[in-house]
Amino acid sequence: MTMAPTDAERLLALLREPCCPICILARRAAREYLETRLLRLSTGASQGPKALYEQDPPMVSGAVLCSRHWHKLVALEARHPEVPRLSEAMLETLLETADDPRICLACGVQQSTTRRYLEVLARLPAETVGLALRQGQGFICLKHLAALPASPLKGWLLERVHALTLDLPRFQERYARWHSTEFGPEAELDPPGRALAALAGED
Ligand SMILES: [Zn+2]
Ligand SMILES: [Zn+2]
Repeated sequence: MTMAPTDAERLLALLREPCCPICILARRAAREYLETRLLRLSTGASQGPKALYEQDPPMVSGAVLCSRHWHKLVALEARHPEVPRLSEAMLETLLETADDPRICLACGVQQSTTRRYLEVLARLPAETVGLALRQGQGFICLKHLAALPASPLKGWLLERVHALTLDLPRFQERYARWHSTEFGPEAELDPPGRALAALAGED
């Protein structure tokens, strides 16, 4: 029986890829959240926003997604034509509660995952992280570096980002290749622009 990887193992594995593991793990968690919510509705869902509301009250009544996660949900829906449109049900609720500001549920998942992995990173032995850095192409983005306490590890991580900026075209090319394998084609940003956004810290 294979054991599921621990948080530390997940983080170290991604540190070998040309990405910020914390950004990627948080984005994955938000995507899985949207996907799980959406696909749950595909089993025995009857049509119509009202039926969706009854099947998934937290998602619909809690119901706000920021524009970024809204677009991701709509893109997921396009890939699953068999599932009733959750976005329509949400839109209906949103229009009814327009004056009631709430936090985006997917952003909430992304933020709590970010906090969790920042803690994991801060607790890892510096030598272990240093080894992963030497063996791979990963980095910690500027946004997440800013959240780390000062330490020798933080110094190494800053050096890594600096080294990547010295040959940006090479990094942009590597990042684009890796990103399309991980997330498939995404139309939000051109690949070179996305690579720069990744160094700064992606949402
Ligand atoms: Zn990051
Ligand atoms: Zn959001």
